[in-house]
Amino acid sequence: MRLVRFLPTSGHSATPLCGVLTGEDIEVVTEGSYLSGSPQRTGGTFRLPDVTLLAPCAPTKVVAVGLNYRAHADEFGEAAPAKPKLFMKPSTAVIGPEQPIGYPPSAAQVDYEAELAVVIGKTLHGGGREAVAAAVAGYTCLNDVTARDLQKLDGQWTRAKSFDTFCPLGPWIETDLDPTDVPVSSRLNGEPRQSSTTALMIVPPLPLVEFIAGVMTLLPGDVVATGTPEGVGPMQPGDVVEVEVGGVGVLRNTVSGE
Ligand code: MG
Repeated sequence: MRLVRFLPTSGHSATPLCGVLTGEDIEVVTEGSYLSGSPQRTGGTFRLPDVTLLAPCAPTKVVAVGLNYRAHADEFGEAAPAKPKLFMKPSTAVIGPEQPIGYPPSAAQVDYEAELAVVIGKTLHGGGREAVAAAVAGYTCLNDVTARDLQKLDGQWTRAKSFDTFCPLGPWIETDLDPTDVPVSSRLNGEPRQSSTTALMIVPPLPLVEFIAGVMTLLPGDVVATGTPEGVGPMQPGDVVEVEVGGVGVLRNTVSGE
């Protein structure tokens, strides 16, 4: 099942709607049931060409992990961490598919990072692997946009990871996906840049969520970014960046001047 949040293109509503996407048909569902595993249809329908897709959830927080692929740690000359190296991106950084990534004037190098994102559907605090699996609503694509020069300059990552628009998310949530071995890739202006598989993660998606839920309560709509493989690199204003997760889809954004 594919879950979408959207605005009707020619509507009067400024309130995002939630739906189930089948082909190009969207069946509207109630917001309260959207991530529950059994979304409740309202009877409303839309066609995909007639809506603007938004980020497929509205997280209170995005919890991310650094250096979760050995080959990516290698390209930065870093050792793979003994425990997941967590950081956070603010909810205000989240944008949807096709929305522009702003290039901050204070940054000299802004990188793309293709990642599989886990979307939480039910409140999760602690609990074992079964509780984690039951709390996951599905999976989507995420671009962990990073001001690389500021990350190195600051010695910690908050500023580098947190500019508005630095967390493109989407285009939808795929609920039926085994995340243990799916391709994760990126393209810049159509040229392949990253190509790996989640099978090469140091800590796989569900154990990673379990680790995080042992630290903090995860709420419905919260997102876990599972780390990027090797091949990260800079973007320039005007560039088009795509993040693809096999079995989910393609998240496409452009880079704007500001
Ligand atoms: Mg990352």
